[in-house]
Amino acid sequence: MKLIRKTSLLLLLGTGLLPQVGLTAGVHQHGVAQLDVVIEPPALTLALHSPLANLIGFEHPPATAEEQALWAELQEHMQQPELQLLLPQAADCSLQSSDMNDPFAHHAQHSHTHEDEHDDDHDHADLTVEYHFHCTRSEYLKHLDLPLLQNYPGIEKLEVRMLTPSGQHLQILQTPDQRLTLP
Ligand SMILES: [Zn+2]
Repeated sequence: MKLIRKTSLLLLLGTGLLPQVGLTAGVHQHGVAQLDVVIEPPALTLALHSPLANLIGFEHPPATAEEQALWAELQEHMQQPELQLLLPQAADCSLQSSDMNDPFAHHAQHSHTHEDEHDDDHDHADLTVEYHFHCTRSEYLKHLDLPLLQNYPGIEKLEVRMLTPSGQHLQILQTPDQRLTLP
């Protein structure tokens, strides 16, 4: 896993392109996370953006042994997309690459230009992890199951932004067992 910054996906799926339905795209809000799904056959890209608090319960660089263990475990689990996102077998997808940002670099870089509504007297950090798949039968990409939502109950609301051959779509998932339909 190499380090990345905010990705081209965010440019592609920026707020300007999305329906106005109260999306919190790019806004750091605890309990809310975003998933970008881009299907450009045979390529499939899945990118998850979440406040770190949803995933490990804190957003400062890990200090204690317990925090370091939680952070290490998160990194390990995020490197295994099959633990988070289940693709239909029939689509015959294979992982090409995955990238994860360094959520603790953000605070250092941007602490001088804080524009959001948060008080700046404590740390906030976002995790972005991106998976690139090659799907030989992407016509079978009709749904996606998200163990992610069971693994991380801190994600109470997942905003799914999709760009598929049929156009742009938005779905909001708020229950852990909900299946994502790919239009
Ligand atoms: Zn925060």
